[in-house]
Parts: sequence; structure tokens; C-alpha cells
Amino acid sequence: MQVYADNAATTKMSRLAIDAMLPYFDTVYGNPSSLHTPGQEAKEALEDARARMAKCLGCEAREIYFTSGGSEADNQAIISAARYGAQKNKKHIISTAFEHHAVLHTLNKLEKEGYEITLLDVKTNHNITAQQVKDAIREDTCLVTCVYGNNEIGSLLPIAEIGAVCKEAGVPFHTDGVQAVGHVAIDVKAQNIDMLSLSAHKFHGPMGIGALYVRRGFPLTNLIEGGAQERGKRAGTENLPAIMGMVAALEDACQHMEENNKKVTYLRDKLIAGLSQIPHCARNGDAEHCLPGIVSFCFEGIEGESLLLLLDAKGIAASSGSACTSGSLDPSHVLLAIGRVHDVAHGSLRLSLSHYNTEEEIDHILTAVPEVVSLLRNMSPVWRDLQTGVREYIL
Ligand SMILES: *Cc1c(COP(=O)(O)O)cnc(C)c1O
Repeated sequence: MQVYADNAATTKMSRLAIDAMLPYFDTVYGNPSSLHTPGQEAKEALEDARARMAKCLGCEAREIYFTSGGSEADNQAIISAARYGAQKNKKHIISTAFEHHAVLHTLNKLEKEGYEITLLDVKTNHNITAQQVKDAIREDTCLVTCVYGNNEIGSLLPIAEIGAVCKEAGVPFHTDGVQAVGHVAIDVKAQNIDMLSLSAHKFHGPMGIGALYVRRGFPLTNLIEGGAQERGKRAGTENLPAIMGMVAALEDACQHMEENNKKVTYLRDKLIAGLSQIPHCARNGDAEHCLPGIVSFCFEGIEGESLLLLLDAKGIAASSGSACTSGSLDPSHVLLAIGRVHDVAHGSLRLSLSHYNTEEEIDHILTAVPEVVSLLRNMSPVWRDLQTGVREYIL
């Protein structure tokens, strides 16, 4: 049995999204910037897609900027707020310790340029509170940026509360909504979000396309110079087939959100209940406020990488932390941020589900994971030391 349980890394495209793209390769293939009829047909489709996306997010069409994906949107949002802040001598940015690298590495770059970065602690409930944000805001704060739903452990942040705090303080608020868009209900106006990043391949759309919602009037800095596309803020001929696929996938996800989530949370809860039976394990993430599809555990005495390879041999595609983190020897910064010590953080497993998963697949995972964990523990000198009392259990 083949089980794809790595939907936080990327998702299978829906048939609907693929079909929505096809006409834009060979039928409506004009350049939206061209004045002739084929160009204008493409332009019309582009603007229709923008309006449909805006409707899904609760904003105006002119507040949507198409990008190459979530990483670009995160970079552009943060750089824009930083440049705007600098004009007013405000160079303090608030974020969290468990951001995606697209945010963290952008903040690291700004820190080297003289910005001061406050990363909020995420040890309590594996989440942050709006109060933490409020307490961290200063006179010179030019941006609060935090992930909407964490991609490694699934914690869902109190976005509306943080939005209210930022609005009251007059500080721009950006959220990396890449894991949340299409999975939880979002209304950027009601939640006081000034900027939101999204990426199509996390909700069954194509890779390499995303968007940044920017509240009207907020001064955007462009990262790419060239033509006047995207109201002069993002040069380059628009990827129209991908945009059409993205919007079709987004509408589909928003229309079926309730039924999809019902299915996914049922599967997730079964998975959590089963994995919790394994001795000396701990679940990662905010158990109360979490994305529907992400399950993360640490198992003491094993290596996440070996676990992944053995699960792969059993047909299960999973992850140990983010796709960018696996492959390096350092444990995930997210697991360290929630307070897992190095040894425990190394034994992590992330299973991320979608509505394409089935109960039979969950049963297969629940048979395979305990087998593989036992196998690895029986080969592990660390586990022997734990069992003989030479070392003390942490979990
Ligand atoms: C996947 C992901 C990104 C990056 O999006 P890309 O479209 O792959 O660049 C950013 N933030 C989060 C939370 C993600 O899960």
C-alpha cells in the first residue's frame, strides 16, 4: 500500500485544478500585457482569477499580488514593512521562534542590516498568545509577522487576537498563511490582517505560484524589477495557467472546507490516538488549537531519518520536521523552540494528511510506525542505556 502523508510539504494536484489550467497553455495563451485580442482575453482571465481569490479571502481584487509562491510572498511582505519602517526610524520586528525559513532567514538578513528582531517564545502550549505580542510591541516596532498555522507541528495561532492587538497599536501585521489558506476559514478584514502569504501547492494547486494579500495603501517594495505587472510591484509575465489552477483549487478548498476538515480531523484523531500508545513518545504542537491535517510526534531513543527510510520502505511517505530541515543533521529549529532537547528532537515524525487519505491508510500507518519504532529501538545503544537505567528517560 502506498500512503502519501506529507501534505505539509506539498499536495497532490486536484483534477479540477489541472483541468482549470489546460486551456491557458494552448487556447488562451496571450500575454496579459499585450493590447491585441488574445492578450486581452488572457488579461480578463487574470483579473477574474484575482477577483475570485479576493472573494475567498475577504478582500478586494486590487489587494492581491501574484507571486512565485509562499517564500517570495513572505520575503516581499517582510522587506516591504522593514523598508517602510526605516523611513520612520522604526527598525524593530516581532516574530516567533517557530517560523518557516522563508520568514526566519529574511529576518536574519534584516538583523545583519541593523534591524532588531524579537522572536516570541513558543514553549507554553507550543503556541504564542496575543498578550505576548502586546507586551513585545515598542514605539519603534515596524512589523509583527507570525505564521498562521505552523508547518511542522500544526499549532494554529490566535490570528484575530493578534490582528486586534496590532491594529490598536498601529503596527502592520503580516501572517504566513501558507499552511492555513484553503484549510481554515480566513477573513483578512475581520481578522485585521494587513498582509497574508499563500501558496497554491499546499492546497492541491500547482507548485511555483502563490500570492500576497496587501491591505490597500500599504507601501509594497518590489523584489523583482522589470515590467509593470502586478501594479508595478512584481515584474515578470504572469504565470496564467498556474494562476488559473491556483484559484480553482482555492475555491474548491473553500467550498468543501467543512466536509474535508471533518474527514481529515477524524483521520488525524485516530492517528493521534494510535501513535500515543507507543511508549516514551510525546505529541508536538498545540493540542487544542491546531491545523486539521498535521500530526507530529517525538519518539525517544530513535533517529527520525532512519524512521523515515523504514517507513518509506513500507510505502509510507512522511517527514521528520520540514522538508528543508530533513537532510541536515541539526534538529528542527521548531522542535528546539518548543523545548524538545536535541536527542528527543532527533526522533521526530510528521505525518500530514489531506482529504485524499483513507481510513485504511491510517490503519497501515498505525501498524507500521510501532513496528519500525520497536525495530529501531532494539538496535539503539541509547535505548539500551535507557532500559538498563544507565540513562534517564526524558519522555
Ligand atoms: C511551504 C511553506 C512556505 C513556502 O512556500 P513555497 O510556495 O514552497 O515557497 C512558507 N511558509 C510555510 C508555513 C510553508 O508551509
